[in-house]
Amino acid sequence: MPSIDLDQNATTPLDPEVFEAMRPHWLSGGNPESRHALGRGARRALEQSRESIARILGASPDEVVFTSGGTEANNLAIFGVLGEDSGLRARDSTGIQIVTSPIEHPAVAEVVGRLATEGVAIDQAPVETDGRVDVAAMAALIRPETKLLTLMLANNETGAIQQVGELAKLANLQGVPVHTDAVQAVGRIPVNFRDLGVATLAASGHKFHGPGGIGLLLVRKGVKLSPRNFGGGQQNGRRPGTPAVALTVGMARALERWENEAKERSARWAKLTDRLESGLSEALGADRAIRNGPSDPGNRLPQTLNISFPGLDGDALLMQLDLAGVAVSLGSACASGATEPSPTLKAMKIPEDRLRASVRMSLGARTTENEVEEALARIIAVVERIRSAQD
Ligand code: PLP
Repeated sequence: MPSIDLDQNATTPLDPEVFEAMRPHWLSGGNPESRHALGRGARRALEQSRESIARILGASPDEVVFTSGGTEANNLAIFGVLGEDSGLRARDSTGIQIVTSPIEHPAVAEVVGRLATEGVAIDQAPVETDGRVDVAAMAALIRPETKLLTLMLANNETGAIQQVGELAKLANLQGVPVHTDAVQAVGRIPVNFRDLGVATLAASGHKFHGPGGIGLLLVRKGVKLSPRNFGGGQQNGRRPGTPAVALTVGMARALERWENEAKERSARWAKLTDRLESGLSEALGADRAIRNGPSDPGNRLPQTLNISFPGLDGDALLMQLDLAGVAVSLGSACASGATEPSPTLKAMKIPEDRLRASVRMSLGARTTENEVEEALARIIAVVERIRSAQD
């Protein structure tokens, strides 16, 4: 059996049906801004994608801003809500505070870190040992200078689903906007922008079997967003540039596929991750394969499993699993290569011997039972081999 991809929180393979849906748009040409028939066709496709995405995510079409991916969407949201434009002008950052969490992806954490160097005050909310942020404590960090709260919807490493709706309720009472990075949530669990009550929400096509190079930011009506780019005025000037029509069609189709199959995918994922977890703990011992993250399945992504193998070195394990044809990851994929223990697991106060021995397994829409059984056998064999070499 070829390599088994259990690293689908890093990225997912393109759905062939999505590929087919995009094909005519790659080949037809037509700029959606042009006033001839070709242009009108491209605009129709673009606006249909926008409408479909908006309907599935509980937004209205004019609240959808297409971006190049999740990273750009997060940057646009945070700088944009703060009223920062190109970043070149001198700004007075004193007297501005942002409330965030220590488990954010670098696409948020680095933005906040950059603002900190410019004098913006940053407060981080505490995290429970199951990887969920204490949102009451987070809201309690709001003060008159607070300009923004940012909390991800689902964590990329543990799958912990955050209580973003609860946070937004508390923040909205005080008139403070909330941004959520929903890059790992969209296409994995139902997400409704309106119900969440947030000001902005970021998502990315390549996490749910859509194409890479496309993402989106939902911006609630009435929220003022300064642009990061300046140009032709497309997307109401919020994100100018000729939209990549084929990519928007692909992202919309991938989301429609999720909507049609959501129940079936979620049930299968839950069954397969349960099987991985129980198979590992039965074969290796419950204290030698320990889940990091919420124990309540309702509080975590159904296709993500973060497991520590105490006493083993995660880097070595990852390499051995790669040789055995199982792709997994350590910490955040975007930060791979870093040997520092993951800030997310550290914030959860995971003990030292589990910190460096944690592996993330994440499934995709087409992961099969056979693949999971085969991966399980390979992982058990690798862990036992490393352990016996250590003894
Ligand atoms: N936010 C989270 C939670 C992620 O997991 C990722 C990617 O791994 C990103 C943002 C960045 O998204 P993109 O790769 O589309 O820029």
